[in-house]
Amino acid sequence: MVCTYCGSKTEVVNSRHQKRLNQVWRRRHCLNCGAIFSTHEATSYEGSWRVQTATSGLQPFLRDKLLLSVHKSLEHRPDSTTDASAITATIVSQLGQLSDKGLITSKQIIKTVQETLDNFDKPAAVHYAAFHKL
Ligand SMILES: [Zn+2]
Repeated sequence: MVCTYCGSKTEVVNSRHQKRLNQVWRRRHCLNCGAIFSTHEATSYEGSWRVQTATSGLQPFLRDKLLLSVHKSLEHRPDSTTDASAITATIVSQLGQLSDKGLITSKQIIKTVQETLDNFDKPAAVHYAAFHKL
């Protein structure tokens, strides 16, 4: 990985495995300009997961689409962006366990979102259910 500021070579000065998120965090140091920045290595679900839908066949899994629908249901909360981001991470990790080698159904997604929202914020679960029929 090259420096984000000058494009020169970098070295890893520290790294940590974040077990809960299944991510690797690395602190990098630019050998040219001395800048320090960090990177995260995580599974990319885009392009590897497929969603079986009832009406439009197999579709790629889009994490941003999930995040937006979760955020819409949490808009009444004061810190809806942070909440939506955390809830989406929880949902994605549950979907990973439900999926059959990256294949999930749209029903599994809707059910998982509803259950997760229901445990966190009842009005959000009701709002989501109104727009996503099982
Ligand atoms: Zn640099």
